[in-house]
Amino acid sequence: MDKVNVLGVDFDNKSFQQFQNEFIGKINAHQSTLVVTANPEIVMATNENPEFMKILKYDADYITADGIGIVKAAKYLGNPIIERVTGYDLFTWLMSFANERNLRVYLIGAEPSVIEATKAKIIQEYSDIQLVGARDGYFKEDLELVAYQIERTEPDLVFAALGSPKQEQLLALLRKNLLPALMMGVGGSFDVFSG
Ligand code: UDP
Repeated sequence: MDKVNVLGVDFDNKSFQQFQNEFIGKINAHQSTLVVTANPEIVMATNENPEFMKILKYDADYITADGIGIVKAAKYLGNPIIERVTGYDLFTWLMSFANERNLRVYLIGAEPSVIEATKAKIIQEYSDIQLVGARDGYFKEDLELVAYQIERTEPDLVFAALGSPKQEQLLALLRKNLLPALMMGVGGSFDVFSG
């Protein structure tokens, strides 16, 4: 089955490798692509927040099963999912890919010290990435203005680490505006990556 529904969320039933191949295609074609890596907390949150559910239904291009709880629930419901695909694993792979291809990357989220440490690591270890933005996640501006500021940097990849649903709300604005980038919410990934 192509999609597996768990509590109203349609997960893409693909392996990590299949996601990689599809994302490479989207990036090469400069197609606006929103990836949501949904863990059990996100699934529960969408069931309580209709606006968040709408983003997953109408704006997300891919939804991965980010957590063994989702994989287990799918099996229990009789529609097994191929494998767990975490946001962190996709993030680190996409950063290596961006480095190989010299892509333009925008990062937003986490505490100021964490985003600084993330930036330092990229400059050291991913020096072929064009880092077009690295901004902390405690801004005062509204999401529309922040989205506009991101768009102006013309990124190929956008990673938002603001927690859910805020990160998906920001990225959904960019997706609606058809920003030709691959965008993904990555939760606490900058904290782990920089630590
Ligand atoms: N965060 C942020 N702005 C906020 C709230 C949270 O940048 O207004 C950051 C926080 O510093 C952390 C990240 O969002 O780096 C992920 O938060 P959370 O613990 O919710 O991550 P998850 O459990 O979803 O992976």
